[in-house]
Amino acid sequence: MKKCDVLIIGSGLAGMSLALHLAETRQVILLTKHELLDAASAWAQGGIAAVLARDDSTADHIHDTHIAGAGLCRDDAVRFVVEHGRRAIEWLIAQGVPFDRDAGNAEVLHLTREGGHSHRRIVHAADATGRAVQKTLVEKLKSHPNIEVIEHHIAIDLITGRKLGMKDNRCHGAYALDNKSGEVTTIGARFTALATGGAGKVYLYTTNPDIATGDGIAMGWRAGCHVANMEFIQFHPTCLYHPLAKSFLISEAVRGEGGLLRLPASHGGQRFMPWHDERAELAPRDIVARAIDFEMKKRGLDCVYLDITHKPADFLKSHFPNIHARCLELGIDMTREPIPVVPAAHYTCGGVVADLDGATDVPGLYAIGEVSCSGLHGANRLASNSLLECLVFSEAAAQHMAKQHTHDIPGLPEWDASRVTDADEEVIISHNWDELRRFMWDYVGIVRTNKRLERAQHRIQLLKSEINEYYANFRITNDLIELRNLVQTADLIVRCALERKESRGLHYSLDYPAILPEARDTVLSP
Ligand SMILES: Cc1cc2nc3c(=O)[nH]c(=O)nc-3n(C[C@H](O)[C@H](O)[C@H](O)COP(=O)(O)OP(=O)(O)OC[C@H]3O[C@@H](n4cnc5c(N)ncnc54)[C@H](O)[C@@H]3O)c2cc1C
Repeated sequence: MKKCDVLIIGSGLAGMSLALHLAETRQVILLTKHELLDAASAWAQGGIAAVLARDDSTADHIHDTHIAGAGLCRDDAVRFVVEHGRRAIEWLIAQGVPFDRDAGNAEVLHLTREGGHSHRRIVHAADATGRAVQKTLVEKLKSHPNIEVIEHHIAIDLITGRKLGMKDNRCHGAYALDNKSGEVTTIGARFTALATGGAGKVYLYTTNPDIATGDGIAMGWRAGCHVANMEFIQFHPTCLYHPLAKSFLISEAVRGEGGLLRLPASHGGQRFMPWHDERAELAPRDIVARAIDFEMKKRGLDCVYLDITHKPADFLKSHFPNIHARCLELGIDMTREPIPVVPAAHYTCGGVVADLDGATDVPGLYAIGEVSCSGLHGANRLASNSLLECLVFSEAAAQHMAKQHTHDIPGLPEWDASRVTDADEEVIISHNWDELRRFMWDYVGIVRTNKRLERAQHRIQLLKSEINEYYANFRITNDLIELRNLVQTADLIVRCALERKESRGLHYSLDYPAILPEARDTVLSP
């Protein structure tokens, strides 16, 4: 058994910044299932929102966040995050993150403006902010003597008092599978933090990296945490549709510069956004995503097309060098032909319920970043608030842990390794995975109905029992662990969606198209 003061599961921005905040005083283990940089955080393009401009104010950022959240954000969480914005950015600068500066004044950070923000307030490093941040933090982590980084290990489950037959349900660490050797390690910890990111891989189309399989949400739920607001999944309207292009975003700037959404040529090639909203292609993200979904479902289409061929080729090449190059690699010349696109699951607003210290209702267990439901996002996330959330709550959690008296780690049972039989039919895993992602897309996607949700729920129950039986009998693998978590997460999404009898923010139901006067969280009790 390995032991540490704090076990952090996940090496995105939440996990890395928590490790660095703790490392002066605590022995930390940072566990991650692939390599350190395999995280949504490294994929973030736009940047991080914070009130830094002279003409901006915390009141405005708070207001913008509430408007995006459709009345469901928790005011104390929003205030807490926004008021700590400047401090979080200063901390990143002190770590050495090379944010872009104003052309005329190197002392001043360059700020961009994004949809939903009333001011310029997005700090960025060109259009690859996440990578710049993560690379800087990796260097710090690797050289810190109090941080042990363990890559290629997937946490299987948390070890809690209840599972050990104790009176209280304190979390004492986790079991983790070494993805290379197949061995399971027991890691005992005084405090454990879930920093495992979101669950985009529940859906057929997603902008998220492969690691986003809802592991932390499922582990937290099984450990006895409350989980809330899982029905609020943010869909990005335009992800490249191509068999070889997994998760490539076609930025909203393409529509901003005049890109038009069209039906396929085989269906007449007409522009369809004006039929749905007077702002047409420039309508907000959720409206555009809903319109595309409507046209695709109504006509049985695989994708729609984003056409910007009316702009000069030189303009496109200079404004969208990355998109142009990536499309060309796949044989699509955006200067001459429309780009095939689909909406894709982008951000999980709900998650494991956590307070302003990042603490969950299981003692000793914290949830930070996209895995959590902190109250910041409500029914819809404001762009660039998520990286800020990771930074603010990681510092708060580190401070909270420092104030707690330390608990001894009890003797923990080793993982039951009696399941030595290799699975007889691995195909079950890949088949169930495909099936889950497809029916979640069709039945629990952008536009929902009771009937579709009930269909999905029925299928989830069948998959759950099949996977649980499989899990109980065969040697575990990375894919099996992820599939089990995906199905659990899908179940939580559907249960939350069925409980909400209105349309609010990202949850849109044809059976309940109106918004109710009172905004309420959907909280599931374990
Ligand atoms: C394409 C894209 C662009 C985005 N752009 C922006 C942006 O500009 N601004 C913004 O604010 N937000 C943006 N977001 C959202 C933002 O990137 C994420 O919300 C944020 O990075 C989440 O950070 P995190 O640390 O919570 O999780 P992640 O960064 O996803 O990290 C999760 C970590 O947990 C590990 N992990 C998961 N399960 C296990 C397990 N069982 N065992 C061990 N390790 C595990 C993973 O391997 C990974 O290291 C974007 C997201 C995407 C996908």
